[in-house]
Amino acid sequence: MKRKLQNRFCELFGADGDIRFYFSPGRVNLIGEHTDYNGGHVLPCALTNGTYGAARVRKDRKLRLYSENFSNAGVFETSLDDLAYHDRAGWTNYLKGVIWTFCTKGYPVEKGLDLVIGGNIPNGSGLSSSASIELLMAMVLKDLYGFSDLTKTDMALFGQYAENKFCGMNCGIMDQFTVAMGKKGHAIFLDTSNLNYEYVPVKLGNASLIISVSNKKRRLTDSKYNERRRECEAALKELQSAVNIRSLGELTGEAFEEVREIIKDPVHLKRARHAVYENQRTIQAEKALKERDLKLFGRLMNESHISLRDDYEVTGRELDTLAEAAWNQPGVLGSRMTGAGFGGCTVSIVENGFVDAFIRNVGSFYKKKIGYSADFYKVEIGAGAGRIG
Ligand code: ADP
Ligand code: MG
Repeated sequence: MKRKLQNRFCELFGADGDIRFYFSPGRVNLIGEHTDYNGGHVLPCALTNGTYGAARVRKDRKLRLYSENFSNAGVFETSLDDLAYHDRAGWTNYLKGVIWTFCTKGYPVEKGLDLVIGGNIPNGSGLSSSASIELLMAMVLKDLYGFSDLTKTDMALFGQYAENKFCGMNCGIMDQFTVAMGKKGHAIFLDTSNLNYEYVPVKLGNASLIISVSNKKRRLTDSKYNERRRECEAALKELQSAVNIRSLGELTGEAFEEVREIIKDPVHLKRARHAVYENQRTIQAEKALKERDLKLFGRLMNESHISLRDDYEVTGRELDTLAEAAWNQPGVLGSRMTGAGFGGCTVSIVENGFVDAFIRNVGSFYKKKIGYSADFYKVEIGAGAGRIG
């Protein structure tokens, strides 16, 4: 991939000067969904699938941006003097958003750049390709312009700020944090209320992580996501009239049962119940992973999906079909939707001897029921974003 990008960069922008290379992963969340904006825990991993970039500073204020994945659009040209969101700017808005964030936060980007990117994260699959390109951009800026005091956490927060304030998607911190901090072979147990974290080795023995991509065209994802966020905020506000909490993540299951009647709207009640119990499940799952109790870990994954289906209502027919088909297969320890939902993908832990049958059987069941095919990937847990040459 690096060689391919290098060739493309030279072809589009010339071979002279200091061309640098970067990689930024995608991510999969093992458990802890829709908890990261509720002050709860998450347990994601960075993937070896990700986005590669080749970049060079310019002497003027021009930005020339090109993606192998959107090659039909050609080179997108703009300038540091136009860092506003434009619909017609398409995918480049994510990158412009990060540059805009750096400038807003006191890290002025004063010279333009040429940038070629290309990735192998299945498109629109829910493996956070947007956070991947945001953190790629953040790494490029830190390295090219010498913002050496910025920590990985700073950059994760900048990526999130760009996605929230520039692109209008009110995501929590999980995606950007994972992409920035990822570690080979490890999940990140992150407390999103204070950003304390711990790396947990993911030792699956004779099993693997399998991603099943629904290929459902995602529409309304951002607006539905923002709606869930508002519903949780409303539930929290009602609870705060009786208990002294800053987030739903502070409540144990028992504490929630004691006060739940305060929430009058039945929809808000369901959303809050998911946020509280999903957080508890994630805390339990981290323990199970440490103790190598994969059976329990898998059961918690299944329960997570059911809660996302019934209480949070973010799965939909496609993700339910994938998860439910997986639960009926031999050799499957657990399976759940991962990411925001409303399409995207599931993550399953499948014993290696059963992977081929899993893909065959879940694939044909899905095609029969949904009418089009799902795609399957065996994924590996990789490192966070950084310079590679
Ligand atoms: P997710 O983050 O779950 O993959 P999003 O809808 O949040 O899905 O982000 C996908 C968008 O990110 C794409 O539509 C595109 O605009 C941008 N993007 C992701 N990867 C690339 C890439 N390699 N090149 C250009 N744009 C990309
Ligand atoms: Mg995204």
